[in-house]
Amino acid sequence: MKKGTKLYSIAKITCPQCHEGKFLVSSVYDLKHMGDVRQECDVCHLKYEREPGFFYGAMYVSYALGVALFVTIWTSCNLWFPSFGAWTQIGLVTFFTIVLSPYLFALSKIIWANFFISYKSYAQPSK
Ligand SMILES: [Zn+2]
Repeated sequence: MKKGTKLYSIAKITCPQCHEGKFLVSSVYDLKHMGDVRQECDVCHLKYEREPGFFYGAMYVSYALGVALFVTIWTSCNLWFPSFGAWTQIGLVTFFTIVLSPYLFALSKIIWANFFISYKSYAQPSK
């Protein structure tokens, strides 16, 4: 994937401005620090929380991701496993929602940050 695109920052969960620094405090599935965003980028020193409550907006992204997950599972079941009953599908949706929730939580925050922060190639320190 090409560095400099928003998809790179989202897929790698890196700083939206320099695409080098880490965005989260620890790994996605570290449940103690689930979805915790660092104060600032350790490479370009961008402050991630641009204003108090900035990441509340990520709830909209999280909702969209949840709907996308549901639609994906529901469509897949009806296309490839038409014999699955409603309760099997509900079970699958519940299972994947729980298992993927730490990842979706982190993903919603990095997507939200990428709405407002653009890549700047000069934000990286010279090596
Ligand atoms: Zn940075």
